[in-house]
Amino acid sequence: AKELGKNNFQVYTSSMNAQTFKIFSLESNLRNAIDLNQLELYYQPKVCPNTYDIIGAEALIRWNHPEWGLVLPDEFISLAEETGLDIELGSWVKRTACIQNKLWQDANLPKIPVSINLSANRFLEHSLLINTVETLKETKLEPKYLEVEITETSLLENEKIVFSVLGGLKELGIKVALDDFGTGYSSLSSLKRFKGLIDILKIDRTFIKDLSEIETDDSNFITNMIIQLSQQLKMEVVAEGVETSEQLQVLRNYNCNTIQGYLFSKPVSTADFEKLLRKGKIM
Ligand code: C2E
Ligand code: CA
Ligand code: CA
Ligand code: CA
Repeated sequence: AKELGKNNFQVYTSSMNAQTFKIFSLESNLRNAIDLNQLELYYQPKVCPNTYDIIGAEALIRWNHPEWGLVLPDEFISLAEETGLDIELGSWVKRTACIQNKLWQDANLPKIPVSINLSANRFLEHSLLINTVETLKETKLEPKYLEVEITETSLLENEKIVFSVLGGLKELGIKVALDDFGTGYSSLSSLKRFKGLIDILKIDRTFIKDLSEIETDDSNFITNMIIQLSQQLKMEVVAEGVETSEQLQVLRNYNCNTIQGYLFSKPVSTADFEKLLRKGKIM
């Protein structure tokens, strides 16, 4: 597709409706985004609710398009998955996050794990393990400083592969987080089936946003239950999308050990995250 010149582009437009054109244009642009250096990782801190120490970060992809400006992942990740571009994109994200984390460590900043998001279909490949081992070796990052976030959809596919990939990550010492926990349709049975292979639960924002200090909302009961469940199962738990100090207080009462959300920081550029990490703390 890289060979397609501007002229080819025009031939297609005449027979396409606006929507198709938009997707076509998005796809052809995305294909070149890596080579043109248009992709960037932002980092959002994960914070201890009691000390405000930064105890981790999530890497989130951004696309700086010369004409369209900053494009958010919700606009292009699913397209990347449908077109197979997510393979190259995923490798780029992993490599970039590992290189960056190692740079921070070499600069004597606090050592924290950085998590990356894995597309559901990416997760299903053995090559993920091979590629990950190579990236860690190349970047010299210790495996415990890389974490992966997957959604339940990843767990619904071929059982043998899922077990072997999860087992492989465990052997490498890479922690696995179950993202958007509570929104899938098999959350609890996933925990049972993959016991010992999932290390972290990330409580979905839809529960966090309705937390109230009077504790009468269903979201309070559900959030509290997920936190207790994670403790029983010896897993870590992260509350995502925390925006208010009221939500923070409720989560503290429930003994949630990690907080992520706009209250502490939006996802920020590498340079801005480095400033946060230099302080080591939020606030
Ligand atoms: P996610 O993994 O659930 O990431 C959390 C999203 O919530 C991020 O949106 C983050 O900016 C946003 N967020 C964090 N704190 C708050 C808050 O307090 N309030 C609100 N309203 N939002 C908050 P973002 O960066 O736009 O990413 C959206 C989704 O795109 C991610 O959801 C993830 O599924 C996907 N994504 C992002 N980066 C990557 C990537 O490198 N690879 C893959 N495969 N998917 C990615
Ligand atoms: Ca995530
Ligand atoms: Ca999430
Ligand atoms: Ca999400």
